[in-house]
Parts: sequence; structure tokens; C-alpha cells
Amino acid sequence: MKAGIHPEFHEAKVICGCGNTFTTGSTKTELRVDVCSKCHPFFTGRQRDIAAGGRIEKFNKRYAK
Ligand SMILES: [Zn+2]
Repeated sequence: MKAGIHPEFHEAKVICGCGNTFTTGSTKTELRVDVCSKCHPFFTGRQRDIAAGGRIEKFNKRYAK
């Protein structure tokens, strides 16, 4: 690993469209998402319109733990 080529990584506040907030590691200080683990259809059993599917899928895969 070379020094100076990696962006700063710190705790970010994630704000979901459902009103849920949580923190995660990110290079940004604030993130806004359309769905989170609290309101995602997979967890709620409810079907919703998801506009930016690819981005959300990526997000959920990344924070699935
Ligand atoms: Zn949510």
C-alpha cells in the first residue's frame, strides 16, 4: 500500500428515505439512501418501487452483514 493514494475513511451517517439513520464506514461524512435493511422489501416482505436498483443492490451487498 502506498501512502497518500487512499481517501480518508471515517464514520458516516447514513440517512434512508424511510427515516431510519445509522452509521457506517465511508469516505463521506453523510450518505443518503433510498432503502435500508429496515425498509428493504426483502426484510419487510413489502414490494416497493425501486428506481436505482443497481446502486441499492450494491449497497445492500456491501452492508449485508
Ligand atoms: Zn429505510
